[in-house]
Amino acid sequence: MGQYSSASGSALLGLDGFEVLAAEIVGGEWQLEVQTTATVVGCVGCGVRAELHGRRTVRVRDLPSSGRPVVLAWRKRLWRCREPACGVRTWTERMAAIGPRAVLTQRARAEACRRVGKDAHAVAAVARDLGVGWATVMRAVADHGTELVEDPGRLDGVATLGLDETSFLKATRLAPTRWVTGLVDLEGGRLLDVVAERTRAAVDSWLGARSPAWLAEVATVALDPWRGYASALVAPLGHARVVVDHFHAVRLANAAVDQVRRRTQQATLGHRGRKPDPLYRIRKLLLTAAEQLTQRGRVRLRAGLAVGDPGGEVAAAWQGKELLRAVYAAVGTAAARATLDRFYRWADGVQVPELSRLARTVRAWEVEILAFYATDGCSNGPTEAVNLLIKKVKRVGHGFRNFSNYRLRLLLHCGVMWQTHRTTRLRGRSLRLAAQSPQSCV
Ligand SMILES: [Zn+2]
Repeated sequence: MGQYSSASGSALLGLDGFEVLAAEIVGGEWQLEVQTTATVVGCVGCGVRAELHGRRTVRVRDLPSSGRPVVLAWRKRLWRCREPACGVRTWTERMAAIGPRAVLTQRARAEACRRVGKDAHAVAAVARDLGVGWATVMRAVADHGTELVEDPGRLDGVATLGLDETSFLKATRLAPTRWVTGLVDLEGGRLLDVVAERTRAAVDSWLGARSPAWLAEVATVALDPWRGYASALVAPLGHARVVVDHFHAVRLANAAVDQVRRRTQQATLGHRGRKPDPLYRIRKLLLTAAEQLTQRGRVRLRAGLAVGDPGGEVAAAWQGKELLRAVYAAVGTAAARATLDRFYRWADGVQVPELSRLARTVRAWEVEILAFYATDGCSNGPTEAVNLLIKKVKRVGHGFRNFSNYRLRLLLHCGVMWQTHRTTRLRGRSLRLAAQSPQSCV
């Protein structure tokens, strides 16, 4: 076996219960001939020492070694029982490390799952490294991953539950955008599950599958006020405090600003926003938090509004958005209440239809918005962070068609505790950092 002794070759292989008989590189791949170290075996039926009956070679791919794919040629022993009274005749040895008729060793399958799931690598890239097909890797991801994802302990200990929607498939010419609802542990910053559709029924049935003890532990639910989620929560989570968090309120306000901008563009220019249009050029600045604008950004914003917003409606909506944001920046419930009243007075005064609609939604959800103050630690950060991770998985997956694949990949990336390669705990790190790191969700 080339330059290696059997012992060092076996040490390099590091597969418990196996030793290397020969090693060579063929076509850029390691070809390792291996056998088990078990030479004395008792009959599975009677326990009498078995006799070697022959060998059969099975080929299976293992983890790459020094950048090369590895093929193991396992010289499997066939055993025979010589005890006349025993019903067992012959059998083939079995090892947990290599499943029957497997294309990959168990550890290679687990690694494939870890790379696709935890690291969000593309299935095709992992398949190439292992020297197998796409379907083999995807099967390994499904087999190993499903076990991790369906582990009932995975959902334990949720005190603050966040509900959020995310698009699963973008609209095409023939089909509308398909949405899913994500359920997030807002304290642990992990994705608990995704359910198809963004309806009350979808949330209802997910909650219906939880135990009374699990439901009792949930003290706070943060949600998007646009959705009919709240009514789904009443029966199983009637004890929990419902809040509209910062993230969802600001998203709502931003949507209103966007609507006014589009309507104004249409009214003043007679067409939808195009690149050189003044309001179109400041569309992102309009949605940026005022205190985050640079000096240059503020100048551009003002100039864009001066040219593109003769009626002042976009500016009025922008001001409304900032007033609603101020509610969340206020210190204490009394101050928040006062800021909220300023928002109402502004919205009622300027009479911009989109802003009036926003104010109506805010009024309907006032209790839940102000309840935000009673829940310290209920932050929008984790929802935002998980949304970023979801986007990353979608990008790598090049648009999923299959919901259960999509759910599996998302949960493996941001809903599972990976035991191997544990990094330092992220609790206490800033949310911005957490949002950028794929490990933030473990
Ligand atoms: Zn026997």
